[in-house]
Amino acid sequence: MIDDALIDRFRAIVGAQNMVTAKADQERYIHDTRGLYTGQTPAVLKPGSTAEVAAILKLASETGTPIVPQGGNTGHVAGQVPRTGLDDVVLSLERMNRIRDVDPVGNVLVAEAGAVLADIHAAAETVERIFPLSLGSQGSAQIGGNLSTNAGGTAVLAYGNMRHLCLGLEVVLPTGEIWNGLRRLKKDNTGYDLRDLFIGAEGTLGVITAAVLKLFPRPAGHQVAIAGLSDPKAALTLFGIATRRAGPALTGFELMAEIGVDFTVKHIPGVRPPLATPQPWYVLIDVSTSDAQDSADAIVTAILEEAYAADLVADAVIAQNETQRRAFWHMRESMSPAQKPEGGSIKHDVSVPVASIPAFLAEADQAVMAMVPGARICAFGHMGDGNIHYNISQPVGADSRAFLDRWHEVSDRVHAIVRAHAGSISAEHGIGQLKRDELAAIREPIEIDLMQRIKAAFDPAGIMNPDKVLQQRL
Ligand SMILES: Cc1cc2nc3c(=O)[nH]c(=O)nc-3n(C[C@H](O)[C@H](O)[C@H](O)COP(=O)(O)OP(=O)(O)OC[C@H]3O[C@@H](n4cnc5c(N)ncnc54)[C@H](O)[C@@H]3O)c2cc1C
Repeated sequence: MIDDALIDRFRAIVGAQNMVTAKADQERYIHDTRGLYTGQTPAVLKPGSTAEVAAILKLASETGTPIVPQGGNTGHVAGQVPRTGLDDVVLSLERMNRIRDVDPVGNVLVAEAGAVLADIHAAAETVERIFPLSLGSQGSAQIGGNLSTNAGGTAVLAYGNMRHLCLGLEVVLPTGEIWNGLRRLKKDNTGYDLRDLFIGAEGTLGVITAAVLKLFPRPAGHQVAIAGLSDPKAALTLFGIATRRAGPALTGFELMAEIGVDFTVKHIPGVRPPLATPQPWYVLIDVSTSDAQDSADAIVTAILEEAYAADLVADAVIAQNETQRRAFWHMRESMSPAQKPEGGSIKHDVSVPVASIPAFLAEADQAVMAMVPGARICAFGHMGDGNIHYNISQPVGADSRAFLDRWHEVSDRVHAIVRAHAGSISAEHGIGQLKRDELAAIREPIEIDLMQRIKAAFDPAGIMNPDKVLQQRL
């Protein structure tokens, strides 16, 4: 039990102005954005340096105080939300947001964990480079949160996920020791890869305090098109054409169901129907080239010409300027928020081998419609990565609470189909609280045991984000 004396010791580390204890001021730290989880905390701590994080974790280990690291609080599986009634102290990285270095020769940027993703994009731009991780939440998500969830987003096809975009880390271990692994090396085969353990660990092994990120040249040519198709099979064939024609220039290949596009047109200001006649499915194709704009235009045109000749697409539109390119992406990135006004939504973040996407969608649709007649299936996502956000909006007029109460029943069924296709139940959002028990059920006992042993080795006192990802053994 955390008492006033212990609270005072934490306060002495960060300073009174950087500790939030009033319930009214804690609101933004204790709920997840989807409104699925609400927790409690005796205090939110906002350290301003790695040394302060180290002092917090040392004290927490000595006193058995659970610590929940929190970045921008945009995570979809509630790893960042404290539990209820268990004295979880929230450690917010929001003050540690400095960009320490931008190096256009080595193509690296060094940032503190609390730097917001959009600010990292802006810093890279100042030296005509890009940091390619791109998410709908980039205005609030922090790089420490991106790393801890191994975030994916819309450019994984060309640049990989967060694991591929990071060269080095600085981490404070649960004991309060500091590991300075801020290396800038592309090649470093010296023993176990500790960095890769912390990436995707969702704050269960330590607190990431800084990172070395990879930068890339800003593409000179960029083009975006939207094509309308009859079904996901046609989209798969189109993906084959796009991959062959564009090669590494293919930066995005996103699938969207008609109903999701309709929701964005209905609910998101400024979004207009992409094509003159509605289509059952849409694909967004994004191509970036290192040479002139003409080459990006030519690749997209060639992809669509071949698709028309093969009778794959019913209609398509190529963006005429940067404003339109942004508008197409805005529509795609609004798919999730546009579902909100339609009532409850049961969401899945799954991946299957790309070639299995049409079969997965057909089988999942059939199963869901049998369980919830009238459900509105709003599947969309990073088709090129095999990653579908299989979101299900409640039937029109249904009771939202009663629908959401069926979340686990429905997702068990959908995830069974995913597993039958050798897929993953969490492609990019992680495990957190939402999928913890399911992880234990689907991974081999040896895998769970190895994870528990790693956890115990890093965090002997069991204070780092307990009960997230893995059930606490202590
Ligand atoms: C509109 C919207 C769109 C999104 N789109 C995508 C998408 O396309 N792809 C995708 O992958 N995700 C997406 N997400 C999910 C989310 O934005 C990402 O998971 C993001 O990387 C989380 O960053 P955050 O700073 O908000 O982390 P938080 O939500 O604060 O935390 C997430 C996890 O990381 C841990 N953590 C946070 N900071 C640290 C740290 N410094 N050290 C150790 N552990 C830490 C937390 O304990 C928690 O377990 C989206 C979310 C929203 C709201």
